Amino acid sequence: MTELDALVDLQEHDLALDRFRHRLATLPERDEVATAEATIAKLDARATEVRSARDVAAAEESRYDDEARRLADQAAAAEARLYSGEVSSPRELQALQADIEQLKRHQRSVEDKQLGAMEQREPLDAELASIEADVASSTQALDAARRRLEASAAAIGADMTKEAAARAEVASRIDPDLIADYERCREKANGIGAARLVGMTCQGCHLSIPATEVDRIRRSPAGSIDHCDNCGAILIP
Ligand SMILES: [Zn+2]
Repeated sequence: MTELDALVDLQEHDLALDRFRHRLATLPERDEVATAEATIAKLDARATEVRSARDVAAAEESRYDDEARRLADQAAAAEARLYSGEVSSPRELQALQADIEQLKRHQRSVEDKQLGAMEQREPLDAELASIEADVASSTQALDAARRRLEASAAAIGADMTKEAAARAEVASRIDPDLIADYERCREKANGIGAARLVGMTCQGCHLSIPATEVDRIRRSPAGSIDHCDNCGAILIP
């Protein structure tokens, strides 16, 4: 095998490696991971919103609860005084009775507000629990997608390692300067650094090469390097 023939071999290994890299970059598992991550981010944002509304309602509920207890204690203390026998003046007893009524009315109105806050909090608690369950199942889906991605990437990685070793073996038989030229062409010509000249067509770009040029290339001494005028690839007659 001539050095130029080896260059075609090298090109095939490089294209195989390019395909592996492309497959690695476009694994469908990447979309699955991204979708699951986006779903979780959305759920987290919604959970933060619901949690803060729930916390406001819960704080209000607890504040009304404290206030209702305080009013109940005050009414109980006033009732204890009413029945203690310490107060004997009818006017004072009447005033005390009125105080107790007022405290109990106030307590009932605070309890109504407490109930209102509870009615606000409960559906928020339920929504939060449902969001948290969704986050848990989406997190499981994300973990599974990540594991599948890792497995697929590892399989491609193993194939790439083999391919790279085969490429290195071929490259070891080619002059480093020629490889450097090939690499430069490959960069410019969309991955094609060397192409067979079949008939009058460059197999890199599939464009025709003028007959006189083809003739010149076929007659050039062994080891001389010619490039395709169209794509720049090293032409292998
Ligand atoms: Zn070409």
